[in-house]
Amino acid sequence: AQQFIWPIIRLGDVVDDYERAKTAGLRVDELLSREPAVADSPDATALTVTDGTVDFESVTFAYGDDAVIRDVDVAVDGGATVGVVGPTGAGKSTLLKLLPRLYDADEGAVRVDGRDVRDVTLRSLRTAIGYVSQDPFLFYGTVAENIRYGTFDATDAEVRAAAERAQAGEFIRNLPDGYDTLVGERGVKLSGGQRQRLAIARTMLKDPEILILDEATSAVDTETEALIQASLQAFAADRTTFVIAHRLSTIRNADRVLVLDDGRVVEDGTHRGLLAEDGLYANLWRVQVGDIGSLPAAFLERALE
Ligand code: ADP
Repeated sequence: AQQFIWPIIRLGDVVDDYERAKTAGLRVDELLSREPAVADSPDATALTVTDGTVDFESVTFAYGDDAVIRDVDVAVDGGATVGVVGPTGAGKSTLLKLLPRLYDADEGAVRVDGRDVRDVTLRSLRTAIGYVSQDPFLFYGTVAENIRYGTFDATDAEVRAAAERAQAGEFIRNLPDGYDTLVGERGVKLSGGQRQRLAIARTMLKDPEILILDEATSAVDTETEALIQASLQAFAADRTTFVIAHRLSTIRNADRVLVLDDGRVVEDGTHRGLLAEDGLYANLWRVQVGDIGSLPAAFLERALE
């Protein structure tokens, strides 16, 4: 397992289908409709994040022929927590994948700390960004190695502390070999919620300036989720954070909520402000609190399409 781990550790913890395909030895074009042509530019320099601002400037992106992100213009303050919501397929994940350059915008620019992400080294960019997806990637290696992925100089005590903060300590201790249990392909099969907690521990250990949580606790039971959310909120407090969440209660305390629909930002405000606007966000909220009776007919028709 050791030889296998080192090459992928260098990538940091940002892994997309492309990386999965490569590590699985598959031909990338068999899995993707569009091969990400992302590489360091010849004069790329290291990114050092100080303010943590994130800007999407007139960003448009398509995987194939149809634009998935359409002319998105958003400037995010350093340290802010931004909820990103909207119907399935609206482009939430895609928008945030442009930040660590899993894909590059077709038009416009994405900036971190004022720097175009295409002008900085991928290594420094991905070191600065922690990305927890809903289906995190584990490689064949031990639990400890998987948590260390990207921060391989961390001590055992640091690995354990990160696991505890991610509510993963207890289930890890109950595995056959604890932190030395082999997981991933061919290893002990972990549940979706357990994989998510390892990914959160990995990101907490990495301590990035910018955090992206893409349905990061969707597979965890409600009780554990509440504990992780509290821990994540403390972790997010002093770093720029994007939270994609189906459960809107998760982002109701966010500094700002972006509502995406069909690739566009259609609403932008606080939870309270958007409820007062009585638009798409307010309707999504009504659905979640079970207030279906007061939904406008046009929204219901669309939802039933
Ligand atoms: P959301 O996160 O809001 O559910 P996504 O960003 O995942 O939306 O997807 C937006 C659109 O892009 C959807 O139509 C989806 O099918 C499409 N899409 C997502 N990933 C890929 C991909 N790797 N290749 C082609 N199309 C994709």
